[in-house]
Amino acid sequence: MEYEGVIGLEVHAELKTETKLFCGCSTKFGSPPNTQTCPVCLGLPGVLPVINEKALQFAVKVGLTVGSKISAFSKFDRKNYFYPDLPKNFQISQYDEPLCEGGALEFASDGELRKVGLIRVHLEEEAGKLIHFDDGESGVDFNRVGIPLLEIVSKPEIQTPDEAYDYLIGLKQLLQYLDVSDCNMEEGSLRCDANVSVRPKGSEKLWTQTEVKNMNSFSAVRRALAFEIERQIEVVESGGRVIRETRRWEPETQTTSPMRSKEEAHDYRYFPEPDLVPFVLEKDWIDKVRATIPELPIARKKRFMAEFGLSEYDAGVLTSQKDYADYFEECTRLYENYKADCNWVMGAVLRELNDRKITLDALPISPKMLTDMIRMIDEGKITSTIAKTVFAEMAQTGQSPEQVIKEKNLLPVTDTGEIEKMVEKVIAENPKPVEEFRGGKGKALGFLMGQVMRVAKGKADPQVVNRILIEKLKG
Ligand code: ZN
Ligand code: MN
Repeated sequence: MEYEGVIGLEVHAELKTETKLFCGCSTKFGSPPNTQTCPVCLGLPGVLPVINEKALQFAVKVGLTVGSKISAFSKFDRKNYFYPDLPKNFQISQYDEPLCEGGALEFASDGELRKVGLIRVHLEEEAGKLIHFDDGESGVDFNRVGIPLLEIVSKPEIQTPDEAYDYLIGLKQLLQYLDVSDCNMEEGSLRCDANVSVRPKGSEKLWTQTEVKNMNSFSAVRRALAFEIERQIEVVESGGRVIRETRRWEPETQTTSPMRSKEEAHDYRYFPEPDLVPFVLEKDWIDKVRATIPELPIARKKRFMAEFGLSEYDAGVLTSQKDYADYFEECTRLYENYKADCNWVMGAVLRELNDRKITLDALPISPKMLTDMIRMIDEGKITSTIAKTVFAEMAQTGQSPEQVIKEKNLLPVTDTGEIEKMVEKVIAENPKPVEEFRGGKGKALGFLMGQVMRVAKGKADPQVVNRILIEKLKG
């Protein structure tokens, strides 16, 4: 019999609010341990939580974008469990009245648009962080406690590990476009657990699932899912039964191993959070949130193709991150040679980011500087060879193209007398290609052009060189 995997993903994304979900403590990453805490997030007796409206806005913004039903009435619940990084011994979460229900995530997978249904999107608070030291002792950092978390739960509609990977890429792209989360997996601001089961291919029934945890990158998710699906198929084929349990991805051995038997909702003894009243979201408030939703990646890609004549590939790369798309679009506003704008952003700019492992906001070349330079190429003021030098210099120093050209003495040779001298020198030194050209071999011209440009150190106007060269060769 042939089997197929069935995957549902549960993603936790930290929302990038300035302050925590129920208190005014900073959410800044990387501060010394336990410097961003207060009685509320430490759960000291007698304190009262107050909801952060920004977190509510961000959550609803995501819900509206994925087409969830925004609950008119919502509330928070206590999820009770003990863990050393959870000072209150409960997490304020949402149980039976989540903020957003239903909807679907649309994402690109294998060259096509895929849609995976969502069960719910809800808001809850982050736990702290345990740090295990080399000497065997452990510490706990409560700075993270109470940071707003968005939990996004998909239906078990994902079919393959590759599709799960693409789903995560799509979700991350969306959350970044909406500007609600940094989605930085290294800093732990995006985490993913997976529900996995197998069943006979084509069957509709869901078999017993396991939950896989501890995957700290998208590719780890893909590998863990592939392993777990294979493992379950082997269990079933050897006559065994898959046990409902939580399993841990082990990066060292690239396997999953049992962690604990899977807890059920009733194990958590959920009950309504008595310190926070249920709340109603008014239509006006929701409409205001809706107005903050920007153009989304899929729509923007289509528009880039239509408006700027880009290929699907180019439009895909440029809209893969909002900052790329914003940068390119600013370039098109400043200078309407879309093809050249696209080539420079896709080429030199992205290469520079990649080489230096920096993000776009750390690159000192503004769209204005880049397009000023492209315009100078188009106007014949500099050659594309010179432009490469100008670009590299701008990337290092943040100087404008005019400044670079002036300081590095890169101004083109416009003196035709000087160019004539160079052409004559090249003709004299290259009798063979000159003969070939005169004998009708057009290819030799390119070689001679290159020689003149080399003598001119790329600073001569190629059109002028071309004209004078042909004149001299024919004359
Ligand atoms: Zn606090
Ligand atoms: Mn959760």
